[in-house]
Amino acid sequence: MSINQSIKPITTEVKDNLTIGGCDLVELAKRYGTPLYVIDEATLRGICREYKNAFKGKNINMMYASKALCTLSTSAIIASEGFGFDTVSIGEIYTVYKAGADMSKVLFNGNNKSRRELELAIDLKVGRFSVDNFYEAELLNTIAQEKGISADVLLRVTPAIECHTHEYIKTGQLDSKFGFDLSQVDEVIASQYSNLNIKGLHAHIGSQIFELQSYRDEVDILVSELKRINQKFGLNLTELNIGGGLGVKYTEEDCPPSVEELAQALSALPDDLTIYIEPGRSIISTSGVTLYTVGSSKQVPNGRKYIAVDGGMADNPRPAMYKAKYTAEAANKPDVQETEEVTIAGRFCESGDVLIENITLPKLETGDIICVYNTGAYNYSMASNYNRVEKPAMVLVNNSQSDIIVNRESLEDLVYKENIPDRLRR
Ligand SMILES: *Cc1c(COP(=O)(O)O)cnc(C)c1O
Repeated sequence: MSINQSIKPITTEVKDNLTIGGCDLVELAKRYGTPLYVIDEATLRGICREYKNAFKGKNINMMYASKALCTLSTSAIIASEGFGFDTVSIGEIYTVYKAGADMSKVLFNGNNKSRRELELAIDLKVGRFSVDNFYEAELLNTIAQEKGISADVLLRVTPAIECHTHEYIKTGQLDSKFGFDLSQVDEVIASQYSNLNIKGLHAHIGSQIFELQSYRDEVDILVSELKRINQKFGLNLTELNIGGGLGVKYTEEDCPPSVEELAQALSALPDDLTIYIEPGRSIISTSGVTLYTVGSSKQVPNGRKYIAVDGGMADNPRPAMYKAKYTAEAANKPDVQETEEVTIAGRFCESGDVLIENITLPKLETGDIICVYNTGAYNYSMASNYNRVEKPAMVLVNNSQSDIIVNRESLEDLVYKENIPDRLRR
């Protein structure tokens, strides 16, 4: 089984309490407080190695999509596994730079990069730019000219395939804000930007993908498009970036393909091309869990039972944003029978702030520790200070050791960037 096919981190064990990475989750909650993000290093390294092994022998560059989770420590781990990074802002670029990434293996992607971001990215020696539109092609070309360099670029295209979990559509044209329509590619190439060195094409067809046929179709389209361009313009473009998107298992109903199966689906990729793959979610999601402490509860007469925890939509906006589903357990009651159906509610002032609807757990009391699985991706990276609540801490666990990698925000952190004009002082 592939790690992205597991709900829990691979080191999860039941002792007196649940443990991950050899660390007792109840002790972690006591020591660092809750809500607490926990990242299991063995699971993270494990999936990185699965990807490398599955594509062994191919000319493949693994690029982790930083937007799923971008911290110094997780970036350092992923870089140490030989991965490059797909980034979408100067903030992500700066973070992976500070983490010691090989900047030649960093790709800067995004549909509206600013002049400042492009300039700083060139200064930090980012290896590839994924050029998204005509405006950016002009702008990057101008900046590269000013700096006296030639920027290596891929052209972001929309291959008319869109895929989200079970839904998979192939259309003549894709009405997307990202990338050039295939019909516009010739115009970009014909423009012959003096300081852009076009190396190939880039696409990304969706996220939380379960349907391998969409990848086969994507490969077909990109490979033939590259061939067509090379013939028409007498070029030798040799690079294809096929994006990310492999799904993970949030609940028992989710059945994502394995990394091995993904590699098989991509086996039609020609050996003489340089390939990039950019998984984000499937790299980091399974390694992360979030710990919460149970506070109040409410039994609606003839209705549901709500269990309120000390976090919610500000640390994990996915359920509120797109009805995402999660699995949880009571970390301090791993052996107690699950007998009560409850809804785990967040603490934020929105009725939609519900983490998990209708989950069966042991009878819960105030002070119990809830472990929500598969929160490594798109949780901390999407976190906010809604309701003026401090963002949680993050710890890395491995071999019974725990290290804090993101400090919990303090009350001072909440106000330190603010300023009261003199006339308002009292
Ligand atoms: C978001 C994104 C990814 C990563 O997607 P996942 O579903 O997290 O694997 C990769 N490439 C591009 C261009 C993206 O926008």
